[in-house]
Amino acid sequence: MSIEFKCPICEADIQIPDNTKPGERITCSSCYAQLGLYKFHGKWTIGCAFCKEPVFDPAACEECERRHERRKKLIEEGRL
Ligand SMILES: [Zn+2]
Ligand SMILES: [Zn+2]
Repeated sequence: MSIEFKCPICEADIQIPDNTKPGERITCSSCYAQLGLYKFHGKWTIGCAFCKEPVFDPAACEECERRHERRKKLIEEGRL
């Protein structure tokens, strides 16, 4: 069994095993976004893994994304 989410950044489908615990980090396999699984008002939500917001807010998480972009660059350059 798995829960299906859409990546809040690239909208790819993300399958998460339903034994994943709230707060666990999830990496989107298509854009490498660092997401977190949270329980918010009794519902499973995908939020930001950096600031622990249960709802991903592209405006508020701009800074988190910038950090992510830097990390992605490092990965692409093979430095991580
Ligand atoms: Zn994604
Ligand atoms: Zn954030």
